Amino acid sequence: MSTAESNPSDVDTARSTGAGQDSQPAARPVYLDGHATTPLAPEALAAMAPWWHHQAGNPNSPHRHGQFADAAVERARRQIAELIGATPGEIYFTSGATEANNLALVGAVLAARAQGDVRTQLVVSEIEHKSVLHAAYSLERQGFTVATAAVTADGVVDLDRLSRLISQETLLVSVMAANNEIGALQPLTAIAEIVRTNGSLLHVDAAQIVGKLPFDASVFDYVSLSSHKMYGPMGIGALYVSGAAAYRPQPILHGGDQEGGLGPGTIATPLAVGFGAAAALAAIELQNDARWTGALAERFEEALRERQVRFTRHGAATARLPGSVSVAFEGIDATELIAGVSARISISEGSACQSGQITPSHVLRAIGLSDSLLRSTVRLYFGRYNSENDAVLAAEAIASAVAKLRLRTGDRLQ
Ligand code: PMP
Repeated sequence: MSTAESNPSDVDTARSTGAGQDSQPAARPVYLDGHATTPLAPEALAAMAPWWHHQAGNPNSPHRHGQFADAAVERARRQIAELIGATPGEIYFTSGATEANNLALVGAVLAARAQGDVRTQLVVSEIEHKSVLHAAYSLERQGFTVATAAVTADGVVDLDRLSRLISQETLLVSVMAANNEIGALQPLTAIAEIVRTNGSLLHVDAAQIVGKLPFDASVFDYVSLSSHKMYGPMGIGALYVSGAAAYRPQPILHGGDQEGGLGPGTIATPLAVGFGAAAALAAIELQNDARWTGALAERFEEALRERQVRFTRHGAATARLPGSVSVAFEGIDATELIAGVSARISISEGSACQSGQITPSHVLRAIGLSDSLLRSTVRLYFGRYNSENDAVLAAEAIASAVAKLRLRTGDRLQ
């Protein structure tokens, strides 16, 4: 069978056969955009199947179908809790990390205020996901202030500057564990120490790290998770609320008392089951996945060098999520490059494209890239189901597209 295609059903062959020797173009593009979403694990798909039809039931219903569904949701909660060193009671299902981030920031801050806490400052890193940044900014309308913590050229929060930003006024600090554009990993233990010493609340957006590297939530007050970034289904995530957190977030959606009132509405049983199965699988595969995806990213860079392609990789060599590669091909327009390789590989820009307009990525700006490097940056993620052949094919596709584009612009040097 061909290893040139990334198909969830290739799960065994992708890792075991590894060295795809031929690098024939895939019949359909190879998926290399795991920061955006990861393919569903076949094990999670199988676990979900019964809950869509013959096992269907609302976990809130008192009859047997309801009880079975409720037991399945609670099992999933345990599986997720186990993966991050939490207790099941600390896991609240949400629709994804976006909702979890909003609940953590808006819900916790308003709960603090309702209980008489007079602190009004929030501190967020410059490279947070927009669901953190915009949730924080939404609180400015309610009298809170938001300070942004700068990052180094590697995308790592500058600890000295963070320490100087935090004061007795700081109610909550939010720092992501791994960045979704450049894969930068944050020194969370050191950050937690600084924040704790000051007595502020600490939220961590762990959407990109959980299921990919070991992660212990118990050091933090609030942690956001996303199922579809860890080979689970789209449409579900969770917020971890530490039993020791000074404030339990107040609801931001209103309705029933599901999820202790924090997630009003019917829990999507099949999605919760799939999320749980993905978490259980991640707990087993964590080390293998990290080794494998890290090796693929290295193989990709090596294959680019073999083809003498000039490139700049962003982010630190080591403090980076395995499998994540953010890379600039100077002088090349990222949009054109992506279009040029789109028949062979699916990759993303380092910039978000909104309503047809390219807005420069706030992350790439924060690490100090020049406009030209910023415009020439693409992002790849080699995941569990990619093969070595995919890495070589990606380098080959990019090398030939870059050569063509550079030729067109009169730059004959690759
Ligand atoms: N945080 C980070 C770091 C992310 O990468 C994403 C997804 N791009 C989110 C939050 C939002 O996750 P979801 O799609 O589950 O709402």
